Formats: sequence, structure tokens, C-alpha cells
Amino acid sequence: MVEVSQEVPESIGDTMSNRKNIVVLGPPGAGKGTQCEKISETYDIPHISTGKMLREHKDLETEHGTARDYMEKGDLVPDRVVYRILDHRLEKNDTKQGFVLDGFPRDMEQAKHLEERRELDLVISLEVDQEEIMVRLTGRRVCEDCGESFHIKFRPPEEEKVCDECGGDLIHRDDDKREVIEERLEEYRNKTLPLKEFYNDKDLLEEVDGNGSIEEVWKKTRQTLEETL
Ligand code: ADP
Ligand code: ADP
Ligand code: ZN
Repeated sequence: MVEVSQEVPESIGDTMSNRKNIVVLGPPGAGKGTQCEKISETYDIPHISTGKMLREHKDLETEHGTARDYMEKGDLVPDRVVYRILDHRLEKNDTKQGFVLDGFPRDMEQAKHLEERRELDLVISLEVDQEEIMVRLTGRRVCEDCGESFHIKFRPPEEEKVCDECGGDLIHRDDDKREVIEERLEEYRNKTLPLKEFYNDKDLLEEVDGNGSIEEVWKKTRQTLEETL
């Protein structure tokens, strides 16, 4: 008698439906990094933040100065440098079942670049009121070593100026100062916001209300993920 294997081979269809290629959009300070960490832990997919990777490679040369020169002013770093970092990261094996992308794409050019590399499953746009953004960014403190975000009021570390996750020093980012924040918000409005329409036309966009506590926003984000993926 021929033994029939009970094991069902994983079909390409299954792999596709399990895949979670997610982009999170939102103005600076919306809480992208905070929510992306939770998405990453919950679904076991890597959190890829171009801002964080660029902060780790601030001295990378562009045609006109270093990445740092752009970041200090709140301007977008030239695409060539960002693509190099991003493409290298996407090549790693841990992105096969998905990823949650934070801070990329920032404009149409970048959206097209991504489209040539990966098919997306969901784009979340975190919607937060302008006054709240200022409060979040001016009170943000980030870990110099692991990049984790804290807030002096909304997510204070257990020990002052020390990262709960790794014990690293918490710093106030140079670009989290009022004038630079204004510039970053302007960049967001002009270049990134139009992406919402682009992704909406592809039926990928879900808006999530990003006002409210970290846990409240997570509840809504999680619900959106469960309903759409
Ligand atoms: P936030 O989400 O708080 O605005 P990020 O950490 O995403 O900040 O980005 C910090 C800075 O890094 C940006 O102001 C910009 O200079 C640079 N940067 C991050 N991601 C990109 C990107 N995809 N393209 C160009 N520049 C970027
Ligand atoms: P982004 O990555 O969009 O720039 P972050 O995740 O770094 O934003 O959050 C910005 C700041 O606001 C951080 O100090 C973070 O601890 C805090 N924060 C994030 N989400 C919330 C929330 N829902 N309520 C209050 N503070 C928040
Ligand atoms: Zn840390």
C-alpha cells in the first residue's frame, strides 16, 4: 500500500497570503517607530527604519556633503545614498516573509524605487494632530545605541536618560529642535503626503488615528492589520 503523506506542501499561494510587506507613513513624530516596533515583535518581521540606518551612517558622502549635512537641516538625504542602504538591507534573508518599513518611501521617486523591488501588502498612514506632533518631538529622547524612542512624559525610561532596552544613553536628537521640525514637516507635506493618494489608488492605504496613548494607537493599528492582512 502506498503511504499517503499528511504533509501538505506549502503552496506559493500560502506564502503570498502570509507575506507581510508593510509601509508605515506619517509625519515626523507621529509614532511610526513606536508602532513599527510593536508590529515587528508581533509578526516577527524586521523593522526597517531608513532614519535609524542613516543616523548610523551619518558620514556617508553624497555629491554635496555628508548625509549628516542634510539631516541636520531636516532635508531629505539624496536618493542614491538612501537606496544603497535600503537595497542592502532588503537583500537580507529575514525580509523574505515581510518587513515593516518606517521612513521610506518619502516621495514619489522613492515609491517607484520600492515598487521595482517589492510588492506591498499594506500601507498604514498614522494621522496625528499638528500640536500633538510638536509635543511628541520636543519631548522625544532616543537611545544612542539601539535607537529606541522614549518620551519625557509619555514614555519615560525607568532610570532617567538610560535606555530600558539596552542601558544606552538617551539623547535629544539634533533635528528634534523646533526650527528643524518645521522644515521636516514642510518636507512631509510637500513630498510625502502625495504618496497617500498613490497608495490609495492601489487599494493599499489604511489610515489609522494616531492620536491617543501609545497603547490606544496600538489597539487600532493591530485591528487594522488583522482586518487587512
Ligand atoms: P522622523 O520620522 O522622525 O521624521 P526619521 O528618523 O525617519 O525621522 O528621519 C530623520 C532624517 O533622516 C530625515 O529628516 C531625513 O534627513 C533622513 N531620512 C530618513 N529617511 C529618509 C529617506 N527615505 N529619504 C531621504 N532622507 C531620509
Ligand atoms: P516617528 O518615528 O513617527 O518620528 P516616534 O515613534 O519616535 O515617531 O514617536 C515620537 C515621540 O512620541 C517619541 O518620544 C515617542 O515615545 C512618543 N510617542 C509615540 N507614540 C505616542 C503616543 N501614541 N502618545 C504619546 N507619545 C507617543
Ligand atoms: Zn537602547
